[in-house]
Amino acid sequence: MAQQHDTILADPLVRAALQQAWRDSQPGMRGGHEEGGFILQDPNGDLRIMRWPTGSQSSIVLPPYSNCKIGESDIVATFHTHPNTGSEYLQEPSETDKRAIRDDPDLKGEFYEGEFIISQAMIYLVNPDGQVNEIAATGEIFAKV
Ligand SMILES: [Zn+2]
Repeated sequence: MAQQHDTILADPLVRAALQQAWRDSQPGMRGGHEEGGFILQDPNGDLRIMRWPTGSQSSIVLPPYSNCKIGESDIVATFHTHPNTGSEYLQEPSETDKRAIRDDPDLKGEFYEGEFIISQAMIYLVNPDGQVNEIAATGEIFAKV
């Protein structure tokens, strides 16, 4: 059962988790750090979040995974925050972000929709081919939690 990115973002549990990750990353002009995680779909169809270890100001390291799965669960999306709003920080996905998704053979599962990048104003999606879409205003998604 394929999950489209809008279906994933419509899940209240996912919205709450993205908002929590945003808060945890201490957004501001500077001094924030990236937070992120896997959005997993269990064999019974439920979505669930597995957070990654806390990142730094402009990067985050993923825990191990393979074949676009964690155990029996499919990785249907990933996400990370861009919490620093100062002009020296990128709000949109970086070239490194795009390459990391595009060039990762373990993020090419049948159900993988891409990586959500959460910035102050906008939620972006880096598609598995590295292309970027603006998905929604961040405030709009968080308002519905
Ligand atoms: Zn990034």
